[in-house]
Amino acid sequence: MAVRSIVKIDEELCNGCGLCVTPCAEGAIELVDGKAKVVKDELCDGAGFCLAVCPTGALTIEQRDAAAFDEEAAAERVAEKLAAAVAIQQRCFNCGRSEMDAVLFPCRKSGESTWVCVKCLPELIHG
Ligand code: SF4
Repeated sequence: MAVRSIVKIDEELCNGCGLCVTPCAEGAIELVDGKAKVVKDELCDGAGFCLAVCPTGALTIEQRDAAAFDEEAAAERVAEKLAAAVAIQQRCFNCGRSEMDAVLFPCRKSGESTWVCVKCLPELIHG
């Protein structure tokens, strides 16, 4: 542990909008019970790219005793978040391909809004 720059989140000012989560390239910020939190000190590099997006001024940089930034842990965290995002993304209703595997188009089927991939679209059109 050593004194270094790290993001500080004022819970009173945080409205839980979540705008700071995506700009954090290290995946250090998450919403927990409706408030932004630095999930682990070692994931925050203190660069402060998140500060500019906060509409309430809840984010600042402070100097305090904290675990050193761990680039490897941050890379693992980002990979986990990417995998989770891929898992919940839109998929073709017919074959299950995700937008990582094929171009998807929005469509309506049986009264529902859904997605169809380029490979399944002809079958949908021509039967
Ligand atoms: S951008 Fe600001 S107000 Fe929104 S969740 Fe993050 S800290 Fe809270």
